[in-house]
Amino acid sequence: MFITINWLLFLVVTLYGIYLFARAVATRVAFIRLGKKTEFDLALKERLKDIVTIVFGQSKLLKDKKSGIIHVLMFYGFILVQFGAIDLFIKGLAPGKHLPFGPVYPAFTFFQELVTLAVLVAVVWAFYRRYIEKLVRLKRGFYAGIVLLFIGTLMLTVLLSNGMLLLIDGTISTASQPVASAIAFMFQWLPQTAAITLFYIFWWIHTLTILVFLVYIPQSKHAHLIAAPINVFISKRVPGKLEKLDFDFDEDTPEDEIAFGVGKVEDFERRQMLDFYACVECGRCTSVCPASTTGKVLSPMDIMIKLRDHLNEKGAAITGKSPWVPAYAFSGKGPNKYAEMGRNEAVEQISAIQMIGDVISVEELENCTTCRNCEDACPVMNEHVGHIIDMRRHLVMMEGRIDPEAQRALTNIERQGNPWGLSRKDRIKWRELDETVSIPTVKELKKEGETFEYLYWVSSMGAFDNRSQRIAIDFAKLMNEAGVKFAILGNREMNSGDTARRLGNEFLFQEIAEKNIKEFEKNGVTKIVTIDPHAYNIFKNEYPDFGFEAEVVHHTQMLYDLIKEGRLTPKGRIEERITYHDSCYLGRYNDVYDPPRAILEAIPGLEVVEMKRTRDNAMCCGAGGGLMWMEETTGQRINVARTEQAIEVNPSMISTACPFCLTMIADGTKAKEVENDIGTLDVAEILALSVFAETEKRNVS
Ligand code: SF4
Ligand code: SF4
Repeated sequence: MFITINWLLFLVVTLYGIYLFARAVATRVAFIRLGKKTEFDLALKERLKDIVTIVFGQSKLLKDKKSGIIHVLMFYGFILVQFGAIDLFIKGLAPGKHLPFGPVYPAFTFFQELVTLAVLVAVVWAFYRRYIEKLVRLKRGFYAGIVLLFIGTLMLTVLLSNGMLLLIDGTISTASQPVASAIAFMFQWLPQTAAITLFYIFWWIHTLTILVFLVYIPQSKHAHLIAAPINVFISKRVPGKLEKLDFDFDEDTPEDEIAFGVGKVEDFERRQMLDFYACVECGRCTSVCPASTTGKVLSPMDIMIKLRDHLNEKGAAITGKSPWVPAYAFSGKGPNKYAEMGRNEAVEQISAIQMIGDVISVEELENCTTCRNCEDACPVMNEHVGHIIDMRRHLVMMEGRIDPEAQRALTNIERQGNPWGLSRKDRIKWRELDETVSIPTVKELKKEGETFEYLYWVSSMGAFDNRSQRIAIDFAKLMNEAGVKFAILGNREMNSGDTARRLGNEFLFQEIAEKNIKEFEKNGVTKIVTIDPHAYNIFKNEYPDFGFEAEVVHHTQMLYDLIKEGRLTPKGRIEERITYHDSCYLGRYNDVYDPPRAILEAIPGLEVVEMKRTRDNAMCCGAGGGLMWMEETTGQRINVARTEQAIEVNPSMISTACPFCLTMIADGTKAKEVENDIGTLDVAEILALSVFAETEKRNVS
């Protein structure tokens, strides 16, 4: 009789729990479906590889060993514990029975107990890190730690239930259940009926905790258990690549339907909305964000959370579905209040909330350097930069709102092809700096009936910025030395369009891209080399969306190949202690970490030391995303913070492979008043010093 009632109760409670879980998931799916459809290329092999390494291998989490190990224990413990839970359900519903694992059952219980204990230790450790060590990136408060309570309760009750079962069976000790045996040993004085009663108390606590946890998962940050694997699977194949905006509309399209960028939450793509639910609120993104860590208004984690909460509210208003279930328990709370109103009133109220302005501030959007450090750190592959640029696009193209300095740079690019507004007719003048170096234009070569292999994209920095011109010259000189056949576009070169695109002016970017592509095609360009990682990234990864594909190389990649082929030989000793600063657009965007380091390693005399934050976790210099052209008005200057990190390793020289980074770091050394002790040079300049050691001497600083 008792067993039948227990069965019935179990069935009712479990079915209700599953119903609530399914409702909570279905509601969020309905909210996500309000977004725009995502174009999806099924690169199955690569995507499955991501699932294996990122989800099952927990590769991103293990970047931080301490927290990573905790999560790995919890992740695998969670999976194994599901079998333990099924085993425990069977034991409570059909006394004397267990999972049909045959002869391996004792090994299963032994292993399960070890894992249960390890998870318990991980729970205590995580609790300590959150509430006692008070790790800055982790939120505190009841809800932030509730999952620890759930997991801890599940682990404890499974061990206590099994301990009581041993007592009921009269088996005080068994090697296959060491922890349960210890519990049974401690409670061997209990009468049988008390052991049975306690077993069912622990069994029901375990069952109810699992069901409450199940219902809680989709309504909390633990929705990542469902959303994160999908998010990893559908993540972008080219990191940081921006989506092409379509400016072609039918003539009959009503004016109010013409919109660029994202001004309302439902303008995001569904893939972007999934990011909100995949966020586990771990704070890893914010703890590496250069804007956030230098005291500016921007937290990539908060962007995700605020957009998720806004989507829950707006979704509830539009669909009339309550995101918090059971709805009666949360009546009138948060987004449920919109679900309970009449649709018209709810939509009217929620539409009065401006996503940009009330939910996300303009300042937050402007402070992003697009460095992708947040994305690289994110264990669930959230793509913050796309969201930020989409909102910038709306601001710039729909509302005409942009920082005045940034606008000045864009106007100059539009008029003269460079951010300073210098005459486009002077673009070629930089080559006059050293007339011993042969730097032909495409046109000049054509006249002489000659061809070129590489188009040398000098970039606006290389052509107009006095300091960067020296990099441009040294690189050309090295190409001459190695016999590389190259040409420049001279005054026909424009801006690459990266600044316009990252600042949100997609319209200007597409105009520029179209002109550049025409010029490339007219001149039969099939290979491009550049000293500018921003141009490198946009030509390599984003121009193909506009119909232009070429082999694009960064100057450090070419120089390293030339050294390997023996066409360049670094022979002069350079006795310096040097540290290399990774450019975001070279490193995190394109995985180019080794060539610049290999060049430095090949130079005799150089002692290469790494900064604490290096390679994929290198801090941005502060110039990306168009911020090179804007003043930093709050917090510490990002370039100064990065320079301080370089100074920590006591270098006599800091090297970079990007003219933007070099400018920022050189300014940083001036701000720290160490410019006379610490030189700042591009990798190409240092290589040139070594290669031409016998013919030239130059002050390295
Ligand atoms: S891209 Fe860089 S600056 Fe922007 S939010 Fe991410 S970490 Fe912060
Ligand atoms: S966006 Fe990613 S890194 Fe940032 S808090 Fe969410 S899960 Fe963590």
